[in-house]
Amino acid sequence: MSQLAIHGGRPVRSVERPWPAWPRYTDAAQREVEAALRSGRWAISGPFTGEPSRNQRFADAFAAFHGVEHCVPTSNGSSALLIAMEALGVGAEDEVIVPGLTWVANASSVVRANAVPVLVDIDPETLCLSPDAVREALSPRTRAITAVHLYGSMADMDTLRAIADEAGVPLVEDCAHVHGARWRDARAGTIGDVGVFSMQQTKIMTCGEGGAAITRRADVARRLEQLRADGRALGRAPRRGELELEELGEVLGVNLSLSELQAALLIESLTRLDDENRLRERNARRLDSELGRLPGLRPVPSLPAQTQRAFYAYALRVDPERLAGRSVDDLAARLSAELHFPVERVYRPLNDHPLYRPEAAAATSFSPGYRRAIDPKRFALPECDRAYRECIALHHRLLLGDERDMADVVDAFHKVWASDAP
Ligand SMILES: *Cc1c(COP(=O)(O)O)cnc(C)c1O
Repeated sequence: MSQLAIHGGRPVRSVERPWPAWPRYTDAAQREVEAALRSGRWAISGPFTGEPSRNQRFADAFAAFHGVEHCVPTSNGSSALLIAMEALGVGAEDEVIVPGLTWVANASSVVRANAVPVLVDIDPETLCLSPDAVREALSPRTRAITAVHLYGSMADMDTLRAIADEAGVPLVEDCAHVHGARWRDARAGTIGDVGVFSMQQTKIMTCGEGGAAITRRADVARRLEQLRADGRALGRAPRRGELELEELGEVLGVNLSLSELQAALLIESLTRLDDENRLRERNARRLDSELGRLPGLRPVPSLPAQTQRAFYAYALRVDPERLAGRSVDDLAARLSAELHFPVERVYRPLNDHPLYRPEAAAATSFSPGYRRAIDPKRFALPECDRAYRECIALHHRLLLGDERDMADVVDAFHKVWASDAP
């Protein structure tokens, strides 16, 4: 048996062979950014140049890609979440159901709207919001439900859509991990009332920092636009040199706009999203079949109704017996050393997360009742806790590799499994 790299043995992966890089860009992206630079218009609030803004071109392409009418690009995913809440009428002391296992933005954006994030447990199968737990958490004050599609799996959208309709509350889909995935052939983000995306650097479609909200609902889109641009919306037919933004002022907005340079990058990256997703899916399927054979190791699956996967990360669950008293951190460290690639744990549950501190929110009105309502410790999240103890995740750039890369991943797991005394 060969010695583990973490103990000074020879790693499976040679340091000389790099993993695929992320973010990536093409010559076409470079040309698009240069054209944006030369155009003289770097913001939607800049003067009209005689051609459509790159924000508008991206919004039209992203809406068409999803088969919906409206897309509002934003400065990042968190701002898309915030304007989604506000556009749907979420306000002071309303409750919003949020999964306990996700990035903090899902809960913090609710607090920014002065509403109450109700943290709800996950389905251990997909790691996404559990419909049964949502049913239990509904109350007369529930004003929205946020489903987050996590790592590579979508939440059960049939059941969540039905629950939301029965309860008469809107459903928000956070698609920050799964741009382009499909549920019964409908794209992720089109089943909820609003679909929210992040295009931050690590995501599967990126311009460094960026985001978008999509919807079929014209009333919601009109509010989303104004919430993102100080109460203004694109849509005037201006003369060259005039502002294209029209002052509507129907809601109180702030400036959460995407720059034209970022929009240029997104226009190009959308053209390769489906191809890159197919490559990730093919590699993930290969890892599923090879790694799924190891005792006590199970790739996190998607539900049968998810007809296309998209991977922010490749997640696996390890049977605690297999860990033999060690933490999943130790396992992640062993695998990282074999692969020269960071193998990570999944999100820390939000009822015990160092960054989720709603009581420390600035500019929020705290009644005594509100202070109690937002206390994260009041929520029990046993399946989130278990996932945190048992799951690991590998960033999607690994899934952009070739056959030899995947063989190295499989070899690293085999080596660590063989060396681990049960
Ligand atoms: C990244 C992310 C966000 C926030 O997006 P930013 O662009 O970083 O603001 C929200 N939700 C999830 C699930 C994310 O992964």
